[in-house]
Order: sequence, then C-alpha cells, then structure tokens
Amino acid sequence: MKAKKKVRKKDIYCKICHNNKGMIHRYGINVCRRCFKDIAEKLGFKKYS
Ligand SMILES: [Zn+2]
Repeated sequence: MKAKKKVRKKDIYCKICHNNKGMIHRYGINVCRRCFKDIAEKLGFKKYS
C-alpha cells in the first residue's frame, strides 16, 4: 500500500495571503495575482502585465 502524497494545484495556497484563487504557478513561486503584483517589482518582473 503506497501512501503517496500528490501536490495538486488546488492545494497550493498563496504563501502571502493564503488564498488559492488566481494562483500563479509560473516561476516556481506560489502566490496569487494580487500578491504577485506586490512582489513583482522586488523580484524584477517590472514588465508583468
Ligand atoms: Zn496572495
């Protein structure tokens, strides 16, 4: 019997606001769109639109 834990996108929450709506799975960051805008400048994604 295998106890395999699979991480689904539904189970991934924003590490900042802990919301799972509008999640961005690119760049290996787990944040939602809102928070991404806030951290985008810090990460260097100034041209994100
Ligand atoms: Zn968020």
